[in-house]
Amino acid sequence: MEPTVDGDYIIDNYFGFPEAVSGRELIGRGVSQAKKFGAAIERERVLSIHYDDEKAYTVTTDRREISACSIILATGIERRKPEIKNLSAFEGRGVSYCVSCDGYFFKNKRILVVGEGNYAANQACELTHYSPAVRICTMGKPIEMSRDFTVRLRQAGIALVEKRISMLKGEAGLSHVVYDSGEESEVDGLFVAIGDASSVDFARSLGIITNGNFIQVDDEQKTNAPGIFAAGDCTGGFLQISVAVGEGAAAAKSAIDYVKNICRV
Ligand SMILES: Cc1cc2nc3c(=O)[nH]c(=O)nc-3n(C[C@H](O)[C@H](O)[C@H](O)COP(=O)(O)OP(=O)(O)OC[C@H]3O[C@@H](n4cnc5c(N)ncnc54)[C@H](O)[C@@H]3O)c2cc1C
Repeated sequence: MEPTVDGDYIIDNYFGFPEAVSGRELIGRGVSQAKKFGAAIERERVLSIHYDDEKAYTVTTDRREISACSIILATGIERRKPEIKNLSAFEGRGVSYCVSCDGYFFKNKRILVVGEGNYAANQACELTHYSPAVRICTMGKPIEMSRDFTVRLRQAGIALVEKRISMLKGEAGLSHVVYDSGEESEVDGLFVAIGDASSVDFARSLGIITNGNFIQVDDEQKTNAPGIFAAGDCTGGFLQISVAVGEGAAAAKSAIDYVKNICRV
């Protein structure tokens, strides 16, 4: 499936690209390369996947139904955005969605993580490796963190701010968040970590074991459902392109073996 995400960001840390490359360009190059080897690329949104009587799967997209013996789930994770008026104007200028990509750039800076759940708590804990000044803003939502995380946050000295941010301020980059009340707070880095992915919906509907919002796979990227493999961010772990690419290769090998040995093609 061709990625439908814009990939509209700059990647500094992918192997073989000493100059930064945009996500869009990387996707474009990958698509051309796959086509060169005969892959058919279809741009369709998958709506559901069901196991049918023929021991195959029916994939319903926004255009049609496709029968498949084997499927690799690689839908990434959904990164929901908070409703902050001018958020996009500060993306790459203080606003980030990826701690392992950008955390380093906020060493000893004032960091605010936006989110209300365990994902936000985990991101905030990771950010304490870079800065002691980390807080979490729930955007006025009730806190939905496990007891374990609540304890870890307290131990790490991470405060929870239960206010809603209405807009961001800054000249060269982010310098302040403005809350609904009009009150302002100094912030250099804002990491978005709202909720988690909905990409495990397919897995759940197929009875595939998940760990929270991630699909559980073995060393060969196999799920517990015959013929269904998963790779990349939707399986959790280290959410990086290099990792997703490696897992994709392992999943493809497993799917090829499965198709050769099991499927009637
Ligand atoms: C702003 C930003 C900056 C980042 N910077 C870096 C970086 O510098 N270096 C780095 O290594 N990583 C970076 N990452 C992380 C990196 O993008 C991911 O780890 C990587 O793209 C994961 O690949 P994936 O194939 O698992 O998922 P994705 O790249 O997210 O691809 C999943 C695809 O599945 C599609 N999809 C989802 N649901 C459906 C559906 N129902 N039907 C059809 N298609 C669907 C999506 O539209 C998307 O195209 C960044 C992420 C973000 C958001």
